[in-house]
Amino acid sequence: MGPRPNLLTRRTAGVATSTLALLLSTAAVGVVPAASAFSAAPAGVCAEPADTHADARVAKGGHAKLDPNHLTAKQVREREADLAAAQRERANFRTGPTVAPLASVTIPVVVHVIQENSTRAGGNIPDSLINQQITVLNQSYAGSTGGAATAFAFQLTKINRVTNPSWYPIVQGSSAERSMKTSLRTGGKNTLNIYLGELSDGLLGWATFPKRKLDSMDGVVVLSESLPGGTATNYNQGDTGTHEVGHWLNLYHTFQGGCSGSGDSVSDTPAEASPAYQCPTGRDTCSTAGKDPITNFMDYTYDSCMYQFTAGQASRMLTAWNAYRAA
Ligand SMILES: [Zn+2]
Repeated sequence: MGPRPNLLTRRTAGVATSTLALLLSTAAVGVVPAASAFSAAPAGVCAEPADTHADARVAKGGHAKLDPNHLTAKQVREREADLAAAQRERANFRTGPTVAPLASVTIPVVVHVIQENSTRAGGNIPDSLINQQITVLNQSYAGSTGGAATAFAFQLTKINRVTNPSWYPIVQGSSAERSMKTSLRTGGKNTLNIYLGELSDGLLGWATFPKRKLDSMDGVVVLSESLPGGTATNYNQGDTGTHEVGHWLNLYHTFQGGCSGSGDSVSDTPAEASPAYQCPTGRDTCSTAGKDPITNFMDYTYDSCMYQFTAGQASRMLTAWNAYRAA
């Protein structure tokens, strides 16, 4: 079950700005971008699955909330086994009174603003949007928008503005993405590096899951205009950032695994057959208990529709933090 990997011919060149604009404008009238627009990550480069889903639909008048964080059932099994191994590793490595797992965490955040030039269209978004994004992250993860409180708070430590047309747009899985991150990523496993810019293929964002060994690809990529007050209609309240950071903290999509099996490995998110878009109130795609969790940050609905994490997700994130990212 779950999304099938759709390994497609990798595009070696970056997307020209004019091509991207065309894709976005095509998307705006409800046509799904050509499957060839998706690219696969080269082997060994990135922790993330190479598959992107060609079954995504673009909501009329808006961007698709799609990202390459879909996993196959096999990838989920591997990740769950790795989490258990990371927990054992920690337990064996650290003993004594200093090893108490953290119950609350303030995450240092470094924001890299990737710009093509000094114009807004070229990626030059104001600091105010970034500050508002940090506020949204803090509200979302504190549970103050309606969901469970999590252990996490976020502290902006640096805004790093980079003008480099060869990194713009940011192309998922490209050598340019690797070059960008290798050049710019700072901090340890506990440091959240967010890369903002125009993105390839009409994507709103993507993220890496935690790994035992830190690598330079670690971080979160977010469409700059999805920040609060940005121009991405229906996706401009900052929830793309919240969603991608959820992956960075080891959450799967609520629709991971569909109706069968362990789904998203969280017990209090009802199973969901497929991503929900827009805000389909009352949607119920699985015969198991509970309606679809369309208001959860880890679904694909409009920002105005999603507002919560569950207690189970909060627990999963803290467990993963202590296994992978805590110093
Ligand atoms: Zn996602």
